[in-house]
Amino acid sequence: MPAELVVLGATGSIGTQTFEVARRLDIPVVAIAARGGSEELFNLGLTWPDAKLVVAAATDDERVRFTDAFGKRVSFGPESVQEVAATRESVVINGIVGSVGLAASVAAIEAGNRLGLANKESLVAGGPVLLAARARTGAEIIPVDSEHSAIYQCLKGERASDVARIVLTASGGPFLGRSQRELETVTPAEALAHPTWDMGKRISIDSATLVNKGLEVIEAHFLFDLPFEQIDVVVHPQSIVHSLVEFVDGSSKAHLGEPDMRIPIQYAVTFPHRSPGGLAPFELGGKTLTFLEPDRATFRALDLAYEVGKMGGSSPAVFNAADEVAVQAFLEGRLSFLGIVDVIELTVSRMPTVNLESVADVLAVDAEARSVADQLISRAC
Ligand code: MG
Repeated sequence: MPAELVVLGATGSIGTQTFEVARRLDIPVVAIAARGGSEELFNLGLTWPDAKLVVAAATDDERVRFTDAFGKRVSFGPESVQEVAATRESVVINGIVGSVGLAASVAAIEAGNRLGLANKESLVAGGPVLLAARARTGAEIIPVDSEHSAIYQCLKGERASDVARIVLTASGGPFLGRSQRELETVTPAEALAHPTWDMGKRISIDSATLVNKGLEVIEAHFLFDLPFEQIDVVVHPQSIVHSLVEFVDGSSKAHLGEPDMRIPIQYAVTFPHRSPGGLAPFELGGKTLTFLEPDRATFRALDLAYEVGKMGGSSPAVFNAADEVAVQAFLEGRLSFLGIVDVIELTVSRMPTVNLESVADVLAVDAEARSVADQLISRAC
């Protein structure tokens, strides 16, 4: 059991569930970071009185309010997030949304901390950089993404050379079975209504476009060191099988359970052991599990992600940044649902593929891709 936890992205969906796990397992939380100085963060500061608070992007007003209330335990700015990510001998749960989470992931790994990684953008945008840091320090990256946690667990005790392929399951999102034409007019509210997982806004939209599955394919490529030819996707609307690994002898191992993020969060915390999960027993009786091929023609993001992943270098970072901008525009009513993938594709086609060697390299590509995507969106309006 780890000595203590650092929770980044504390007020988001992953952060909130991490605190539930920490309370149940009685693990102290030593640092809590969130983007804004919200009331939720304020309350977390009251609930965990010994934890250091960090507000990554505070307004002047928030700085004053938090400093008055909590005094020395509050710090501000992205550097402070990296500083707490490097807290010695802690397990860092990174639930930050977006490529802004990369620097904290690298800081955690460079300090030799175990990184419970829910921020998939750390690997998608900064894979080469994060893995180089891991090679230097030998720190552990335990995935918190449910599919990758499933694969990680299925691979335990197996030789890498015995793996034939991994298969990521996708719920299919709220628009499973719809035609391209039916998707032309969907609204943010419809896209936010995910059938099986309760998640943050960006990942819900990304699930509806299948961009999320595309990001997860790239994440798996880096995390498990597998070529894209050995990574497949199958649609599984019930989200009970969280992913599977097929071995060269024809055996497959799957990971099953309720779609509940507290399970992979807890696994990242207790690894290599397990603790009682506090959930009702998982019953297969009465459940129907179905599987189908993804509709790659309608949900173009999936094949685009494979293409971008094979291009390598900075291209996945461009894919991710363009998506972050496009999703925001969709949520604000400035871009259509189908426009999201168009913006990603065009942004990727307009930017050269370069090598990434540092966090600064990734951030530079990320910023440029955002500006290209922004221009494409404002021109389309
Ligand atoms: Mg996932």
